[in-house]
Order: sequence, then structure tokens, then C-alpha cells
Amino acid sequence: MEGMATEERTTYCRICEPLCGLVATVEDGRLVRLRPDGEHPLSRGFACPRGIAMTEVQNDPDRVLRPLRRVGRSFEPVSWDEALGDIGRRLRRILRDHGGPSVGWYFGNPGAFSYSHALWLQGFMTAAGSPNLFTAGSQDINSRFVASHLLYGSLTRVPVPDLARTEFLLIVGANPLVSHGSAVSAPRIKDHLRAIVRRGGRVVVVDPRRSETARAFEHVPVRPDGDAWLLLSLLHVIFAEGLEDTAALSRQVRGLAGLRAMAAAHPPEETSARTGVPARTVRALARDLASAGSAAVYGRTGACLGRHGTLVSFLLDALNVVTGNLDRPGGAVFGSSPLGLERLADRFGLASYAKRRSRVGGFPDVLGTFPAALMAKEITTPGRGRLRALFVSAGDPVVSVPDGGELTAALSRLDLLVSIDLYVNDTNRLADYVLPATTFLEREDLPVASLSLFTTPFVQFTEPVLAPYGEARQEWQIIDGIARRAGLLPFVPHRLALLGRVLGRVPPVTPVRLLDLALRLGPRGDLFGLRRGLSLRSLRRRPHGVVLAGHVRTGVLREVVRHRDRRVRLDPPEILADVARLDEHTDDPAYPLRLIGLREARSQNSWMHNCATLMRGRRHTARVHPADAAEHGVEDGRPCRIASPYGTIELPAELTDEVTRGTVAIPHGWGHRGGGRRIADRAGGANVNLLTSSDPEQLETLAGMAHLNGVPIHLGPAAGRAP
Ligand code: SF4
Repeated sequence: MEGMATEERTTYCRICEPLCGLVATVEDGRLVRLRPDGEHPLSRGFACPRGIAMTEVQNDPDRVLRPLRRVGRSFEPVSWDEALGDIGRRLRRILRDHGGPSVGWYFGNPGAFSYSHALWLQGFMTAAGSPNLFTAGSQDINSRFVASHLLYGSLTRVPVPDLARTEFLLIVGANPLVSHGSAVSAPRIKDHLRAIVRRGGRVVVVDPRRSETARAFEHVPVRPDGDAWLLLSLLHVIFAEGLEDTAALSRQVRGLAGLRAMAAAHPPEETSARTGVPARTVRALARDLASAGSAAVYGRTGACLGRHGTLVSFLLDALNVVTGNLDRPGGAVFGSSPLGLERLADRFGLASYAKRRSRVGGFPDVLGTFPAALMAKEITTPGRGRLRALFVSAGDPVVSVPDGGELTAALSRLDLLVSIDLYVNDTNRLADYVLPATTFLEREDLPVASLSLFTTPFVQFTEPVLAPYGEARQEWQIIDGIARRAGLLPFVPHRLALLGRVLGRVPPVTPVRLLDLALRLGPRGDLFGLRRGLSLRSLRRRPHGVVLAGHVRTGVLREVVRHRDRRVRLDPPEILADVARLDEHTDDPAYPLRLIGLREARSQNSWMHNCATLMRGRRHTARVHPADAAEHGVEDGRPCRIASPYGTIELPAELTDEVTRGTVAIPHGWGHRGGGRRIADRAGGANVNLLTSSDPEQLETLAGMAHLNGVPIHLGPAAGRAP
């Protein structure tokens, strides 16, 4: 069209962890389309349908583009000034009358993809004097971090499989063909896995479901939440048959006797009732793993969200160590951030564990956050520190934490509920204010949280490719605005505020300035011109990103491990105690089946269900084994009733032998009733987390993880459909 300015701008996707390169076509300030970036050195022209569908989120007529204030049962638009002024006044009053701990903040998964959001939020909570920070981590990954704390003395050291060099990849409870990798950043991960097999190696997937990844490679079906027993039995066979790498063990670990004793008590013949895996399969797998030229053991949410998620994550790494595959080419390796973040986190005490305890339940903090499952009780349990104000950013906890019904009821007891989001959803429909956030295309970024998880060391900086639509603002700006109005100053990340004061007349501290500082002073930085290295300027010149090395460096274990003796600890008392608890739990015959979750290629947790192209022809179902369906009177395509000790939902049944007998698989993030998203709200489905419990007794002990995998359930026809 005449006079129309069309431009192509390079950026990267921030929906999930490969962070694939994208090219945005922008016409007169509006996004026209997104396409994969063929010049991105790692994703090389790949992007999945979700990344491309971000165009629909960006241009969604349902997006909130002005601040909204509650009036009765609905919202009215207000100016930023009015919204921030009122929020600031109310927050100031709450802080004065009830103190810092009465203020809580929940931030959802997309928050982890925005360095500025996470950074400013930390500063805000510190300035408010509140320990009550909650994240999606307790429904996702905190058990992995705690396992790292116990093994390596640092929560932030998470090994990644050396995909490009490994000969044997053992995957437990992960489906990278659909998730595209989690706690690992490896664009085109499908190609990586295929290449392992092509070069004569193996990929073995342990999962209760014949997932897309299991189907493409080798599958070992396991009972839901049977991973701890299986991993102990693999270790049992390795030790019993003398297959361990004694040289690596004598170099790298302490506490081997404790691990040996735990494994000795779990021969595969005795655990097969728990795992559903025949002893001969376990023995063969252990031998193959131990004798492979190189091997990496990797697990994710399926492994993290059971009753013993920390123990399972610990045992995954224990297998890497015992087979001599930790910190060696082709094994499980430790990436490092060019910002030197791990060292900064350790030095400034940001990677804390159990530094504080939650008021309800006494759970340890993990990276300064408490279990999100406790939020409802933190709002309703009387006493000092009861939550009276809650901020929610980039999240929909009513849909994502256990017992969303309890949280919905609790939210109405708050004096102030403020949400920063793209949409009106199931949580913020109850808010006093909904403040419009920018999309990731409307902000600059660098993948700070993922830098050490790239299997090929990599860094990329992107400018915003669009100016914010409507009146949307970046989260950090909104947090800054609220803090100023509430008198929480200086609140920029605490220690850096001091720096700002020392430097005096320097321009205001902004996230991007801090980012540049961290880059330039980091291990690969240019030290302000003293050497060739990274700076924002240098990254701006290379918009498709920079590969920093061909492979992750190995032989770094002594730098990575923070325990005083620099050895991996294999017998922490927390783990010994959890193994002792393993057999405490007995099955209730009233709930004979087990619930698991699953990832879908066209969903991303709870927030992409308003994209027409992603939702076409889809519905939310419960995948049930045909034999279980026959036994419980459930028919294909017909509604079935799934009940747990904590709640009941109804969904159409999808009969498939991809799930093992006794397993029902239901994806999370569905069942929207928020009223703000036309497609999502009409998509139907159920909130599967209504089947899970927020009772502190039911949370995983060491990390406070929600128990979302292996939940005992009962199955039957939907009400009114009794056979
Ligand atoms: S795989 Fe993840 S990062 Fe890549 S395009 Fe899809 S959603 Fe985006």
C-alpha cells in the first residue's frame, strides 16, 4: 500500500526455552507476521506453531491495552496516573498497618523469560520487606534446584545433557519433541535426538505414556510416580555388578557409601511392583547405561512433580556421577552464563535455600520463593504476616496452582489484588486493577535465565520490534511506578541502588543499563574496552545472536561445586530421610488409578488458548487406556468423571493405549472461565488442578512442590451417564 512503511526486524521467541530466532514483519507499527529466522545460528530457520502464533497474541482484540479498575462486577478503563496513584496509596496503607510480609507477589512462567521483570520484582519485594514471593517454579522446577543445592551446594548449577556428543540419552519424564526442551536450551532439539541415533547411539524414554518422544525412540513404560524406585534400582544394579566408574567417583564425590546403601535396599525385583518395570528391563538398562561410551541422564516435569520430586532429580544426577558421565564430553555438563550470574547469585546470597520458612507449613524458601500452593492459606490464615495485598504478574494461578477453587475464594478476602497481564483471566477477573503489560515483542531482552542452559553456548540481545500497543507498559516500568507511589524507594535491586548513589549524577538506573554493565564486567565482557569481549553494543551488531563456543566446557566440576571440599555430595541427610519415607505412602483402593499431566504442541501452559490457529479442532480430553475405560464404564468421546480425594472434574474420554494401564493423562492449563478471552473461554475443558491438593501435608517435603503427577484418582462415567 502506498506510503506504508514495512520493515523486517530480527528477534527471538520467548515462549519456551529454545528461544528460537524469529523475524517480525512490521507495517506502520503493527505486527503483520512472524517467521522463523533462517540466519539464527542455532534454530536455523525453525520455529514451532506457537512461536508463529504469537502474531495472534500481539494483535489479539481481547488484549488488555488500558489500565482497568474494578467497578462492581466489571471493569472500567482508567488512566495510568489514577491506577498507580490509588494502588500506591492502598499499598502504603497496608504496609503501614500490617508490615511488609502482608504483601505477596506471584509471577508466572513468562516472567522467567523477561530479565527486567524478574530483576525489578526482586528489588520491589526487598524494598517492601516481604518474603512472600511465589512463582510457577513450585509447579514446575524447584525440586530440580533443590537437588542441585544438595548435590553441588548451589541451586543454580543445573547440568544439561551434552546432546551433540552423547551416545546414550536417558530421558525420564520429559517429552522434548513437544516441549522443545525444558531446563535445557537447544533449538531444533528433535534434530539433536535423531542425530544421536544416526551416529549409532540410543535415546531411551522412561514415561507412563508413550509420548511423542517415546514413540520416536525407545520407550520404557513406568507407573506414574515410580521414578524414585526405578532410579534407585538402576543404581542398585550398577553397584551390585561393579559397573560404577570408580576413578570418577574417587575424584568427584563424597558420601558414596550413603548412596550405595540406599541403592542396595532397592533391587529391581523388589521395586517392580512400584515401577511396573520388569527387573530384567531395569538390569539391561543399567548395564547399557553404564557401558555406553558416554551417556547423559536427563529428566523434567514428569520427574519433578511427583511425591518425591527432589529425590528423583537428585537420583538422575547421581546416575550421571556414578557412571562417570558428569562433567565430561557427551555426559551431563555445566554451562556457564557470560554474565557470571551463578557466581553473582552465590556471592550475594540470591540463590538461597531454607534461609527463610513459610508462615504456613514452615516450608523452606527456594531461590527466595515459597510454594505457590500455600497462597490461599497465606491469605486466609489469621495472624501476623497474613497476606492482604497480592500482585500477580504474567500468571493465572487459579488455573495453575493446586486447588484453584480454594484460591478463588481466598482472593476475595484480600484488601488489594493487582494483576499485570495481557488478558483478563481466571485470576485477575477478581482483581481491583488489571494493568496492561507489553508482549515480549514490545520489549528489549537477553535470555538471562537460560544462558547456562544452552547446550551450545550462545547469547542474543534483541531490541523491541514494536512500540507498545495501546497504553501497555513493560512490567519493570509498572513495578517501578507502583513502588514510587507507595514510597518504596530506592528499590532498584538493593545493592545496585547503592552503586547508583555512589555514582551520583549518572543517568537513572534502568534494566538495560544494568544488563550492559553485567555483560561488560562478566567473564566474557569487554571490561569497558580493556579486551575484546561482549557488550550490548557488540551484541546489537549481531542481531541473530552469537555462538560463544562449539561445546559446553567440561572439567569444570571443582569450579561448579560450592561445597567446601568441592566434591559432589551423595549422602545429604535430607535425601537419606526422603528415601526412608518412600515406602510410607500406601495406595487407597478407593482411588485405584493415577493422574499425570502432558504437554501439547499447541498449548503453552494457560496463556496461548486464545489463538485461533492453535485452537482449531482441539478439545480438552482425558486420555484413558481402553482396558481401564471398559473396567470403569467409560466410553470413547463421552464425558467421564475423574475424582481425587480433593476434587472432581468431567471431561470427554479419549481412549488410547499410549497411556499405561492405570494411568489417566490430562493436560493442564485448560478450563478457562475468566470472561476476557473469547476463544479460550469457549474452548471448554476443565481445570485439572482441581484434582490436586494445596494441603501442606500433600506438598513435596524438600522443595514444597505441588504433587501434580501420580495423583490417586477414581474414574467413572460422567454424572447422569452411569452405564
Ligand atoms: S519452540 Fe518455543 S521458542 Fe521455539 S518457536 Fe516454538 S514456542 Fe518459540
